[in-house]
Amino acid sequence: MATRKNAKPKPVPCPVCEGSGDVPRTVRVGRKRRAVGEQSGFCLNCLGTGVAPADGE
Ligand SMILES: [Zn+2]
Repeated sequence: MATRKNAKPKPVPCPVCEGSGDVPRTVRVGRKRRAVGEQSGFCLNCLGTGVAPADGE
């Protein structure tokens, strides 16, 4: 009962998207795969939450 534990550890920002939840993706078109711009993409590392997935839970 006297043991104190951090119930809520500080959320670690996702290293892939740096906490934004999305990542820039280069949009390519044509056979030569010419880059025409960038598009915001869903970060697959944190699934768009911006927080690094906690392990051991
Ligand atoms: Zn992320």
